[in-house]
Amino acid sequence: MNIILLGPPGAGKGTQAARLVEKRDMIQLSTGDMLRAAKTSGTEMGKKVAEVMDRGELVTDEIVIGLIREQLEGDKKGGFIFDGFPRTLAQADALGELLSEFGEDLGAVIEMQVDDEVLVDRIVGRAAEAVAAGKTARADDNAESLKIRLMEYYKKTSPLIGYYHAKGELTSIDGLASMDEVEASIAKVLG
Ligand code: AMP
Repeated sequence: MNIILLGPPGAGKGTQAARLVEKRDMIQLSTGDMLRAAKTSGTEMGKKVAEVMDRGELVTDEIVIGLIREQLEGDKKGGFIFDGFPRTLAQADALGELLSEFGEDLGAVIEMQVDDEVLVDRIVGRAAEAVAAGKTARADDNAESLKIRLMEYYKKTSPLIGYYHAKGELTSIDGLASMDEVEASIAKVLG
């Protein structure tokens, strides 16, 4: 089954996607991870998106749709988990078209609901943990970028909640529950 994990930055999409990869042999398609990899490897595209990402803004639809298209050509194993994609209505339309082109469908869209205050705490905590572990924190895990990432989410991504609700594909779950409880809620949706 192919699913979308929808939710603001810090909602726990990556954590839950990792569990689905391990337990259900699904494939995590995180456009954020792909873009960070492009940034690190210094490709032309990486250079182009670096500043936009660090500021907390969204990169162009064209770039992320291209990244997803490449991945759909590979092995799908237990199904794809779209993590951090789509983030705009244009991306959602493009995903629908890509899936039908590849003979795939969307099993579920799972919205992880979390309060803003918790997001700020989680993200600031994530940066602190990275530093404590001697790693570099994400360049966009700081108060300034976070404010912009949240605004981008509400302006451009949250309309997808209505979009998928209208298609009858949306299930909303409590993203504030414990990681195990969230995992159980997702398992219920996946059946
Ligand atoms: P994430 O790891 O999902 O929080 O993504 C980190 C950053 O990568 C975002 O703040 C955007 O700058 C960029 N990004 C990731 N996914 C997308 C997307 N689907 N559309 C546009 N920009 C994205």
